[in-house]
Amino acid sequence: MNDPLYAIYGASGFGREVLPLGRELLVRAGVASDRLVFIDDAPPGQLVNGHRVLTWQEFLDEPADARCVSLAIANGAIREKLSNRLCDHGVTPWNISAANKVELDDVAVGEGAILCAFVTLTSNIRIGRHFHANIYSYVAHDCVIGDFVTFAPGVMCNGNVVVEDHAYIGTGAILRQGKPGRPLRIGRGAVVGMGAVVTKDVAAGATVVGNPARPLVK
Ligand code: UDP
Repeated sequence: MNDPLYAIYGASGFGREVLPLGRELLVRAGVASDRLVFIDDAPPGQLVNGHRVLTWQEFLDEPADARCVSLAIANGAIREKLSNRLCDHGVTPWNISAANKVELDDVAVGEGAILCAFVTLTSNIRIGRHFHANIYSYVAHDCVIGDFVTFAPGVMCNGNVVVEDHAYIGTGAILRQGKPGRPLRIGRGAVVGMGAVVTKDVAAGATVVGNPARPLVK
């Protein structure tokens, strides 16, 4: 018998913010703190904030009856690559939520989500796999969020908004409320710059900035 092993993938800035949230969940479940480690493909040291940093291979080699991993890397394309790695090795994606997260009625959140402190998800919301909602972000009623979507801190996603897979919404951006049957749509892989105020649909792959948000001309 070996106790399950839990890991935060990414021992950088965001990983160090997510690890204490995971630790709190494990403390409440009575799991010893040495069963929580970081994984990093370029380990910054052997220990980070008191937890061991393992390579992926070391993580797989460590005796454990089960393995659970949270992907704490902001880049959604990297999260998709690493989620395939988890799947290939029978590792379970680990959902981590801050204790003060608020979730109201009929909210479905996919595997591997990270919901940081002060995140609010209101009512009738669908969210895909490996979503990141950084501190103080909210998602309001009737939103549909795809897979590998990233919300930086303080994103205000108002009601009836669709955010397609791999979109990245920058710090403090505001997404205007859509209408029932005519949601505001942020296209696949789009990037919304920090502080942008999005009043219209954003095309797949586009980057928009400013108030009102407009496509970035390079
Ligand atoms: N990383 C990794 N495997 C990958 C890509 C990234 O282990 O395929 C690690 C990388 O070494 C770094 C962390 O993930 O320690 C990502 O840190 P970064 O500062 O880029 O992003 P953030 O912490 O802001 O998400």
